[in-house]
Amino acid sequence: MMELPRKVLVGQGVIGDLGIFVKDLGPVSRVLIVTGPHVKQKVGRKVEESLSSSGLTATWFVAENSTKEVAEQIAKKANSEIVSYIIGLGGGKSVDLSKLAAFYSGIPFVSVPTSASHDGMSSPFASIKGLDKPYSFVARPPAGILADVDVIADAPRRLILSGCGDLVAKITAVKDWELARDDKGEYYGRYAASLALLGAEMFIENASRWKDCTADDVREIVEALISGGVAAGIAGSSRPCSGSEHLVSHALDLIAPNKGLHGEKCGIGTILMSKLHGLDWEKIVIALKSIGSPSTAGELGIDAPTLAKAIVMAPSIRPERYTILSKVKLTEKDALELIRSAEVA
Ligand SMILES: [Zn+2]
Repeated sequence: MMELPRKVLVGQGVIGDLGIFVKDLGPVSRVLIVTGPHVKQKVGRKVEESLSSSGLTATWFVAENSTKEVAEQIAKKANSEIVSYIIGLGGGKSVDLSKLAAFYSGIPFVSVPTSASHDGMSSPFASIKGLDKPYSFVARPPAGILADVDVIADAPRRLILSGCGDLVAKITAVKDWELARDDKGEYYGRYAASLALLGAEMFIENASRWKDCTADDVREIVEALISGGVAAGIAGSSRPCSGSEHLVSHALDLIAPNKGLHGEKCGIGTILMSKLHGLDWEKIVIALKSIGSPSTAGELGIDAPTLAKAIVMAPSIRPERYTILSKVKLTEKDALELIRSAEVA
């Protein structure tokens, strides 16, 4: 089963076309916009003008927190107001909340990312606090994605750099997927794997140029992140986007909360898991360094023993997901050795 977005619009200044974009998706009169207070202040007026000039009525849900309970509230509001679409306007949190609310309410959602710190803008997976699993859970992919490059380029630079960590993660995610195919006979989709890898390869090739974050660079990064989510939609699983490096990142979320962004942790995880897979991990370090994204634990404010604990814990986060860490079974001492040998600490 492939579930994919129907329409994707990436470009400069396209936020002003949101009304037309949503109308083109299908019959619609009312929409519910989910956003955070800062984003509403920044682009709220433009969004409202665009929707009203297309004859659409919009109500707002300004979310302070992203928890399961908030997603349930949004779903309830969307159902009682009989909206045609839930629009997730913002960084990862607003988009994830909308995705989950869309899943609960059965109402389709539109993803309007205002930053690009990971591939959640297009993927069918949502990660929210309060769910019973620390990793993403399967929801629905967006019906449409509208990404305004100018708005995303205007967000703090650290966010888009973190997005690059989520891109490079595809190298080890796909390698782990191959391993699961070979060792466990798991379904493996060559097309979805190649599509996900393409984004990682683009990053490795262009990191030194992308560091400038020009509008063209941001567009390429956003397109690559969207393709990663689409690859997951094609695979019908997060396999092409998320492997052992993501498990390490999720373990760090639990052991060292609020240290580093998702993509930054995934970048570090990718260095380590590449080394473990016997891949060319140094090219990943060079690319992360040249774009100015963390390549050491210290840059995330994490020490080597904490990272080693996370590596040992990682396979238990999601025991059914077979990766190099399920195969190799590292002790804390092995993990420390790996961290040192990959020059992560
Ligand atoms: Zn990710």
